[in-house]
Amino acid sequence: MDYVFAPPIAPSLPIAGSSARFPLRRVFCIGRNYAEHAREMGAEVANRAAPVFFCKPADGVVGDGADVPYPSATADLHHEVEMVVALAAGGRDVPAGRALDLVFGYGVGLDLTRRDLQAVAKARSLPWDVAKAFDHSAPVSPLRRATEIGHPARARLTLEVNGSVRQDADIADMVFAVPEIVAELSKLFELKAGDLIFTGTPAGVAALARGDRFRAELAGVAVLEGRIV
Ligand code: MN
Repeated sequence: MDYVFAPPIAPSLPIAGSSARFPLRRVFCIGRNYAEHAREMGAEVANRAAPVFFCKPADGVVGDGADVPYPSATADLHHEVEMVVALAAGGRDVPAGRALDLVFGYGVGLDLTRRDLQAVAKARSLPWDVAKAFDHSAPVSPLRRATEIGHPARARLTLEVNGSVRQDADIADMVFAVPEIVAELSKLFELKAGDLIFTGTPAGVAALARGDRFRAELAGVAVLEGRIV
């Protein structure tokens, strides 16, 4: 292929217990997927008719142990700890009953958010891109294969910042469970291998500052550590 400049290297994530990497295609996110978090944001909880979706760029994903630069244009960077689902296959209009067949594995990530810019976007009915889709906005752990750990429907999801617990919940409390998220997304987008899905955050979101060290864990699945610089 004759490109006018070298194409960027495809972003990817490591796989636990393997030297192979998981190549990334798209990053989808669902919002308001835990009732307590929707309440703390003063938002309505997601309902069956109206899941809230947005996207992040795949090159915004950063790996475990990375230094995450504090982003420009915000004075209120927030953490949102979330289970992350990685797809090894795709499709359109996938029934919830077959959705888990698409799943390669699971990890834990942070949906980093410029909360001040999101508040402006919400107030003015503007898109969320500048609040959600910035560079380095998606730290993600190494992935664990579903063939190794199965498909967790309940597991403790925690975030510590500088050793203090900020978020502590169970993924069983999600409004839309993973099969339903995949089914709903596939009505809107053709899903493909390499897609990641951030599954929403529980209550306890708060600000991060330069120098903060974070440790996210989805019990029995994955750990993500890093530092805001
Ligand atoms: Mn989120």
